[in-house]
Amino acid sequence: MRNKIIAGNWKMNKTPEDAKQYFNEFIELVEKASSDIAICVPFVDLQTAIEMTKDSNIKIGAQNMYYEKQGAFTGEISPEMLKSLNVEYVILGHSERRQYFNETDELINLKLKSALNYGLNAIVCVGETLEQRQKGIQNDVISYQVKKVLKDIEKEDMDSVIIAYEPIWAIGTGKTATSIDANNACILIRNEITEIFGVEISKNVRIIYGGSVKPSNAKELFTMPDIDGGLVGGCSLESQEFGKIVNYDKE
Ligand code: PEP
Repeated sequence: MRNKIIAGNWKMNKTPEDAKQYFNEFIELVEKASSDIAICVPFVDLQTAIEMTKDSNIKIGAQNMYYEKQGAFTGEISPEMLKSLNVEYVILGHSERRQYFNETDELINLKLKSALNYGLNAIVCVGETLEQRQKGIQNDVISYQVKKVLKDIEKEDMDSVIIAYEPIWAIGTGKTATSIDANNACILIRNEITEIFGVEISKNVRIIYGGSVKPSNAKELFTMPDIDGGLVGGCSLESQEFGKIVNYDKE
């Protein structure tokens, strides 16, 4: 049985002081949540976030990492560094990384292998652009991305992989995929994973939806049978709002 996971992505927002204030409120709001919770914060907030949440049900993640262990890669952060802070999750291949920093499926695959080697849980993002959807090729795009990012990943490591279906046209735009479309994309992704790893592995992989999730649509999306939770950007920034999303099943 797959437990839902709801992950926040703060993107490039909040100082450590802001993070402290946030967790002072948020921890209590979600202490009875039935879903797993992860919040992916900017690198500079990791230490504060880990300290603030250490006795809670909230796990902390980074939003990116490089695949090398160490070396002359100015400005980058390694999986070993993340592990040294007790970070448990990392987002890989977010569409903003693909779009603004030219990340390719090949690079994301290298990062995924490295994250798994270091025992991190990876939230790997895939999803089509508006243009691709308008051309009706979204399923091909999603299948291709899944195959590429999961290339040569060990079966045994798949329990540390979460796939986030994030249609790019829905991210930060206020436009949400319909629950049926999002559910269908999650089915498609699971079918791809079954083809690669077999049903015993694929039935346990969590496949989540991201793209303008908010308190008013969280329940409809997260109660769909094939959507195992969400990756939430804008609405994870405000503790009360994100609390409502995490507690979508408590109303
Ligand atoms: C995201 O950053 O992954 C995301 C889905 O953003 P938003 O919820 O703001 O659309």
